[in-house]
Amino acid sequence: MKLFSNTLFLQIKKYLINRLGGSLPLASWKSALTSAKALSLQKPILWLLVLLATPSFPQDTLPLFVPQKPAKPLSFCTAQKEYLALAETFPDWEEITHLRGVVVKMPYATYDNFSGHNLYCGIGRAFLHKDAAQKLKRAIGILKKQAPNYKFIIFDAARSNHAQSILKAAVRGTPYTHFVSNPVPAASDSAIKIGSLHAYGMAIDIGLLNENGDLADMGLPYDSFAFYAGKKGEQTALEQGLLNAEQIKNRELLRSVMGAAGWSNLSTEWWHFNAAPGDSIRTKYDLPRLPPQ
Ligand SMILES: [Zn+2]
Repeated sequence: MKLFSNTLFLQIKKYLINRLGGSLPLASWKSALTSAKALSLQKPILWLLVLLATPSFPQDTLPLFVPQKPAKPLSFCTAQKEYLALAETFPDWEEITHLRGVVVKMPYATYDNFSGHNLYCGIGRAFLHKDAAQKLKRAIGILKKQAPNYKFIIFDAARSNHAQSILKAAVRGTPYTHFVSNPVPAASDSAIKIGSLHAYGMAIDIGLLNENGDLADMGLPYDSFAFYAGKKGEQTALEQGLLNAEQIKNRELLRSVMGAAGWSNLSTEWWHFNAAPGDSIRTKYDLPRLPPQ
């Protein structure tokens, strides 16, 4: 016997989503159960509905974030030039702009990014910590074997706290504020638990160029705020026809090559990879600083 029809299920799911406001954290089991009880349903069915309804509401009920373009777009030349001078002289870091097998094309060095500002003053130079640069070189070697006609495209690597603050400001007050990391707090100590791993030169934003030199289709552009921008939402997006198998295959290729080289992918962004776990980066690595006089 069919326990409940699809229409009834959809109505109940909608009811649960509405009751929970679409913005509560995932762990709202109790509240969800109370909502379902109000519908006088049998207990096993209640739990099933709660389980089915809960994972979907926080992401796909939010409208897609469309950033507000600033009234006066700025180019942050002084800040970026100072940062690059620091990166150049920091002995732990290495420039990766001219590595064979990568193309550096940084949206933050243009006005065409979600902040609407030219954060890098048009200068497309990329740096990483030596440990991360080593892993990138390993990834380049693996990609050459797995997909000889492909290249990496680097969207961003080490990023200054200054640039990070501007990115954070662009989403502050929106439901997407948590999508963008904070800058690393000024007081540098081992208790620091927040701050972008890009600041340590231990994270990279990277994609693939295919045999024609075009961006491999990942279904969404770099810095998309959609719920299926990373692996987390891929299966749902595939079922809903928002992503196709080819796009997921391209993402898998990037993940497998980077993963084999020791990088771990952020589950919400296809392009973002960390060279080590966040906690160990924050305790073992430094931000770039001037050498002691
Ligand atoms: Zn990133």
